[in-house]
Amino acid sequence: MKTMTCAQLGGACDLRLRGETADDVIKAQDKHLREAVADGQTDHEAALKDMKGRWKHPLKGMGWYKHTKKAFAALPED
Ligand SMILES: [Zn+2]
Repeated sequence: MKTMTCAQLGGACDLRLRGETADDVIKAQDKHLREAVADGQTDHEAALKDMKGRWKHPLKGMGWYKHTKKAFAALPED
């Protein structure tokens, strides 16, 4: 398992998200952003908007996705 923070994934807090793969962590971040915004944390709205935009425009979001996968790969296992 590896850990990335919400902030490393473009979010606004230091919540730690764990997963076996970059995709797991990205999915966890997606869920976290939705919950944070539903909970009234307006500082997460921009990150959620960006995340939704990536699903809608996969090619434009590819740079972020590759960057995140690379960052994940470079992390040590915890
Ligand atoms: Zn967060």
